[in-house]
Amino acid sequence: MRVLQVKTYLFLIFISVGVHTACTTVPITGRSQMTGLIDSQEVMQLSAEAYRQVVDSVKLSNNEEQVAMIKHSGTRIQKAVEQYFADRNQSEILEGFHWEFNLIDNDSTVNAWAMPGGKVAFYTGILPICKDELGIAVVMGHEVAHAIARHGQERMNTSYAQQVGLSLGALALGEDPTVLQRILFEAVGIGSNVATLSFSRRHESEADELGLIFMAIAGYNPEEAPIFWERMAATSGGQAPLEFLSTHPSHQTRVERLKAAMPRALEYFKASKGQ
Ligand SMILES: [Zn+2]
Repeated sequence: MRVLQVKTYLFLIFISVGVHTACTTVPITGRSQMTGLIDSQEVMQLSAEAYRQVVDSVKLSNNEEQVAMIKHSGTRIQKAVEQYFADRNQSEILEGFHWEFNLIDNDSTVNAWAMPGGKVAFYTGILPICKDELGIAVVMGHEVAHAIARHGQERMNTSYAQQVGLSLGALALGEDPTVLQRILFEAVGIGSNVATLSFSRRHESEADELGLIFMAIAGYNPEEAPIFWERMAATSGGQAPLEFLSTHPSHQTRVERLKAAMPRALEYFKASKGQ
């Protein structure tokens, strides 16, 4: 019992020291988050390896036109975001990012996801709902936002803190790369050969809000976003929610929030068009 108390005490010190030094702020929304218990560069490195494993284990699309749309939309939003933060002397937000945008050939999976460091994947199953590059930009903006807001890292940190707590005193956990890799895989939900990300609703709403701005600064009309989500909801047809919907806020809440965030996004959109 006594040992347990000492270990708990050590853990609390560890966590409180960590929290003081480890809080970062989500760009634009200003929300405070815990991301620094695990070294961010290490997460990016692990993420790059995990992404490579996924990409190597699935069949990528060979539809040149669709692949080009994914890569074009992703790169366009990436460049706009880089410019946006450079203009505000905040380029450090994107430090360690190595963007990749891939299209996985899987028509039955209606989903897309992003790993830490800007590693994005779409499934061909979401493309009929996207319809065109503008629809892709809605999803791309949302996924880029997950990466920039470091939602993966935040999840990993929460999981890490919980696991350190559970193992009481395993303060050297961070030195074990297999443990970190397992936490990353859990955080991004990588199963046998299909990767899915399920973030909390708060993360989803934040990704929607930021995604709207990111697509707008890249010159994609943000007014497409609520229209896209209408299409997504119509496709689910009141049946069991599609994978993408099941991890996201309810349709009505999402559309209402998007509309509330629209005036600001439209300002960015007009600015991107030089109006
Ligand atoms: Zn999401």
